[in-house]
Amino acid sequence: MASSKVTHGKCLCGTIEVKAEGDFTASVACSCKNCQICGGSAYSVNLVYLKDAVTVTKGLDNLKTYEDKDTDSGKSVWRRFCGRCGSAIFSQDEDGHCYVKAPVMEGGLETQLSAISSPETCRNGLTARLENIRETSQQFNNDITRT
Ligand SMILES: [Zn+2]
Ligand SMILES: [Zn+2]
Repeated sequence: MASSKVTHGKCLCGTIEVKAEGDFTASVACSCKNCQICGGSAYSVNLVYLKDAVTVTKGLDNLKTYEDKDTDSGKSVWRRFCGRCGSAIFSQDEDGHCYVKAPVMEGGLETQLSAISSPETCRNGLTARLENIRETSQQFNNDITRT
């Protein structure tokens, strides 16, 4: 599904703006402890892009980074957030994936909801589960509706 689609996003205070080019390759609703603490929520809903597809278009000076080394895979995850309002913007892993937080993208979580496909966690690394991620989408959509 290659396209020239561009999706824009911004943090709560508007300091940070991002754009993502093309379609995301997968989506991950992560309920690991780290994402719960970081986001203050039951899980973090991520849209997965290749790193080069995501660009910070405004506020780069205020984009802060936390290197999360407490992962099951042993690989670092760099969690990037707004230094003014604290909104989580995206995370990056060592394998070139960028996990954009769905709520910051235009239309918010509601717009992105149909794409949510997996209750997997980010701490195991990503590559192996991209194959079957779509198969669980119906079940998880039911789960999230109940929540
Ligand atoms: Zn902000
Ligand atoms: Zn996680």
